[in-house]
Amino acid sequence: MKTERSPAKPLATLESAKERLLANVTPVGEEEDVELKSALGRVSAQPVKSDLAVPPFDNSAMDGYAVRTRDLSGSGPVRLEVSQRIPAGTHGQPLKSGTAARIFTGAPIPDGADAVVMQESCTVIGNQVEIEAEVGEGDHIRQTGNDITKGETIIPAGAVLRPQHLGLIASVGVGKLKLFRRLRVAILSTGDELVEPGEPIGPGQIYNSNRFTLLGGLVQLGCEVVDPVIVADTPQATEKALVEAAHSADLIITSGGVSVGEEDHVKKAIEKLGSLDLWQIAIKPGKPLAFGEIEGTPLFGLPGNPVSAFVTFILFTQPYIEKMQGIKRTSETMSRVRSNFNWLKPGFRREFVRVRLGEAGEDGVVKAELYPNQSSGVLTSLCWADGLAVIPENTRINRGELLTFIPFDGKR
Ligand code: AMP
Ligand code: MG
Repeated sequence: MKTERSPAKPLATLESAKERLLANVTPVGEEEDVELKSALGRVSAQPVKSDLAVPPFDNSAMDGYAVRTRDLSGSGPVRLEVSQRIPAGTHGQPLKSGTAARIFTGAPIPDGADAVVMQESCTVIGNQVEIEAEVGEGDHIRQTGNDITKGETIIPAGAVLRPQHLGLIASVGVGKLKLFRRLRVAILSTGDELVEPGEPIGPGQIYNSNRFTLLGGLVQLGCEVVDPVIVADTPQATEKALVEAAHSADLIITSGGVSVGEEDHVKKAIEKLGSLDLWQIAIKPGKPLAFGEIEGTPLFGLPGNPVSAFVTFILFTQPYIEKMQGIKRTSETMSRVRSNFNWLKPGFRREFVRVRLGEAGEDGVVKAELYPNQSSGVLTSLCWADGLAVIPENTRINRGELLTFIPFDGKR
């Protein structure tokens, strides 16, 4: 491992770069009506309110007997006549004093009853039930509205709808809702060396992997991917592809071609058609990150190296996309792991290393194993790993120390 020298000009920290990047995001904002069954992974544009209380009526939390607790006061077992039977989906008659109602989970509590005794505490004797347990008012009754009150907001605007959200929305009878429309993202893969998988490959050529990594990442984020193409390493082809993408997409992602070599046309083309910032950020992998716009359409110029492209996508493009989608996060997906490796020659840049999660130690904290080859071209490492562990700048890590962990699979 080489020890790096720090550059003359200080690099931006990850935090300052992210803050600047996210300060000027324009969310898509357009809303559309979507059937609940098609809403998974999408973003609510308006709060969802409930017109109902849930549960809508007091109901039994157990199979058992609904009783009036007054009838059970006194010492020793009490026998009550079983005056009615109330399965779920029916509703009974007011409960006469001195009697019990056979009742089942989810069935409405009859008027007059104020507790349910679970059947395990009852003995049936002919048409009577003998109750020995101590029974308190409200026992085993799910009160009206104890989950949701009428008029309550159950989902705020800006929530990513997960399976449980769909269930909750369904539970209050809403079948259609207002969502932000999907973000359209164009992927441009640059490089004369690239060939699409399934095609024969010639000397000096490689398959276009970034297109698929990025496509997968975008689909997982609920984006619509606009016709991804390979762009030849000429100024004309690059400019044409960029203009077309600017017109058809909300966001453009390019991979490759943003260094300063003479085959790197993306940088020059963007500077000609719009504007571009090359951000020197003190992270590894992933320096530099190109960010700009063409005719108002924002653009990320990700590095060509597959691992760098993936890591910068996770660190910068993903939060940017989430903001464009109108998502309001309530928590971070980072966690802590215990390093099961030494990292003794730290660089001046913060490093994001590929790790796999192992067993939890005695303290319950999961151990992270390091992938041995951390080179930025090694795509197998990304499949082996579960996420990235963060090695702070100029910091030696000894086995057993705690590290921040960023999972590859976030919350969706
Ligand atoms: P560049 O930034 O264009 O100089 O590319 C840096 C490295 O990433 C080179 O080795 C490229 O061949 C490789 N690369 C660029 N684009 C892709 C891609 N779409 N898929 C796989 N590798 C790529
Ligand atoms: Mg290239």
